[in-house]
Amino acid sequence: AKAKSRGTISIYEPEMDQQIRDRRVLHQDLSTAIKNSEISLYYQPQASSRHGTGNGEIIGFEALARWRHPTRGFVPPSDFIPLAEESGLIFEMGQWILREACREAASWPVPLQVAVNLSPAQFMHGDVVSLVHSILLETGLAPGRLELEITEGVLIEDFDRGLSLLRRLKGLGVRISMDDFGSGYSSLSYLQAFPFDKIKIDRAFVMNLGRNPQSAAIVRAVIGLGHGLEMSIVAEGVETQEQLGFLAEQGCDAVQGYFIGKPLPIEQYSTLVGRAPSD
Ligand code: C2E
Ligand code: CA
Ligand code: CA
Ligand code: CA
Repeated sequence: AKAKSRGTISIYEPEMDQQIRDRRVLHQDLSTAIKNSEISLYYQPQASSRHGTGNGEIIGFEALARWRHPTRGFVPPSDFIPLAEESGLIFEMGQWILREACREAASWPVPLQVAVNLSPAQFMHGDVVSLVHSILLETGLAPGRLELEITEGVLIEDFDRGLSLLRRLKGLGVRISMDDFGSGYSSLSYLQAFPFDKIKIDRAFVMNLGRNPQSAAIVRAVIGLGHGLEMSIVAEGVETQEQLGFLAEQGCDAVQGYFIGKPLPIEQYSTLVGRAPSD
């Protein structure tokens, strides 16, 4: 366990020691990962749910970071993003991710969109507005085709700053999604207070559709609520035809999940992004 106060004698725990050493090494590796081109982006399609079949038109892709470590192999973003956040590397990495995603999307047929995740530190402590602005200019991506995904947790930290940032980002013409809706301290007042364009219903609710009636009730309510606030709704983690059918029937605007397509290198979606297949 962690020492609770100064002067606490910590008991030697070799396992924890190993973990700390491990993290330190991983952190060093992470700091060179971008330079060594070990970080790449995978893209997961989002489809309109209108047809309810999984054959709805593709409206865009979410960019998801991948780290291929030279000796450990694939390190999941749920491990390295928090590490990057703690160490401050997230600023450089987040900048790379945003630039790479915008550069990529600028070559896709209009109006395909790209969604990029902004980490809390990047959002609250970096100069995210000028960063987005300069990357849009640099890549030539039309602002309306960029969607920034943030989690509501970051807004709790500093309401006024969060609101001002969202307004300034929207002023650039980009869209803002609330990611993982329902998973954290979701509060209805946030939906009213912040100018989101889109709500992404957390995978946990979608997963439980059909298993538990409460999830169906919540999903239905979130769709109604979002639409009442003129936001569009995307369901995450759609894995089955049944889930898709329910969501379409409830008027959910778009779906994302393995049933539509897994996150993959963009070459795997070459026909969707108007490019000749690479092989
Ligand atoms: P997220 O933003 O909620 O991304 C969705 C996650 O759900 C992705 O995991 C995706 O691969 C996974 N997923 C999509 N469809 C399905 C499905 O049908 N079933 C299941 N079981 N999972 C599905 P991934 O790529 O491992 O990313 C995990 C989290 O790491 C992301 O959650 C996001 O919070 C963070 N992350 C990933 N890439 C980035 C990035 O570029 N920047 C930042 N700041 N965070 C990132
Ligand atoms: Ca996301
Ligand atoms: Ca999410
Ligand atoms: Ca998440």
